[in-house]
Amino acid sequence: MTTTGVPMVHAEGVTKRFGPLEVLKGIDLTVAPGEVSCLLGPSGSGKSTFLRCINHLERIDGGQLSVDGELVGYRRQGDKLHELKAREVARRRRDIGMVFQRFNLFPHLTALGNVIEAPVRVLGTPREKARAEALRLLDRVGLAEKAGNYPGQLSGGQQQRVAIARALAMHPKLMLFDEPTSALDPELVGEVLDVMKGLAADGMTMVVVTHEMGFAREVADSVAFLDGGVVVEAGTPAEVLGSPRHDRTRAFLDKVL
Ligand code: ADP
Ligand code: MG
Repeated sequence: MTTTGVPMVHAEGVTKRFGPLEVLKGIDLTVAPGEVSCLLGPSGSGKSTFLRCINHLERIDGGQLSVDGELVGYRRQGDKLHELKAREVARRRRDIGMVFQRFNLFPHLTALGNVIEAPVRVLGTPREKARAEALRLLDRVGLAEKAGNYPGQLSGGQQQRVAIARALAMHPKLMLFDEPTSALDPELVGEVLDVMKGLAADGMTMVVVTHEMGFAREVADSVAFLDGGVVVEAGTPAEVLGSPRHDRTRAFLDKVL
């Protein structure tokens, strides 16, 4: 983890409202390249909305948000800001992989087909090359033997690992995970967390919304606790999970631990 240089994610006073409802009320968060940052917080605290802002799926209303030094949604020219065109947004989004609670695989494509889809269609990677790399990625998530299976023939944990391989096929510089194990049967959670641990060990920059405290404690470099649309408390896992300073953090941890 580096502490100097350009942050991979930098949020300063980020606000977001849906109509009259202010969901993000000034989020401050910095994630360095190579860092694993876990976001914790009660349901409705704004965790998913914040990830969606990072990934250009929601537009922020105020504050500043940048990924790898580039403002999300805008291009700077001199001292002027220009809104990004859809094509530029699409290009920036390619660098960000996202894994959701629900696996969202294409049901009519095999595991292999799911992984090669975007490289072939979006990046124009030759099919054979994409195929070779997809097989390597499926092997990395422990699913080399399942390349020919359709999602309906895979367990939830296996589907989620395919979803991770699919995201990796775009060579993202940042991976966002939104409760990737929340929809899984308990016995399948470990295999997905193990793949994520492997990614972390390989130096991938990751922002992970999770209720898996063991993962946060073991793998995260930093933990941020969100409540009511703000980061209430952030620090190392030992600080935030071991000796929380705020009542709201303590109350939350008492419930989930
Ligand atoms: P979390 O992921 O922490 O559970 P969310 O970011 O999903 O929280 O939601 C935060 C709040 O924003 C909730 O009150 C939710 O109902 C509201 N919200 C999220 N998305 C929308 C939307 N598209 N339109 C209106 N309200 C939304
Ligand atoms: Mg959520």
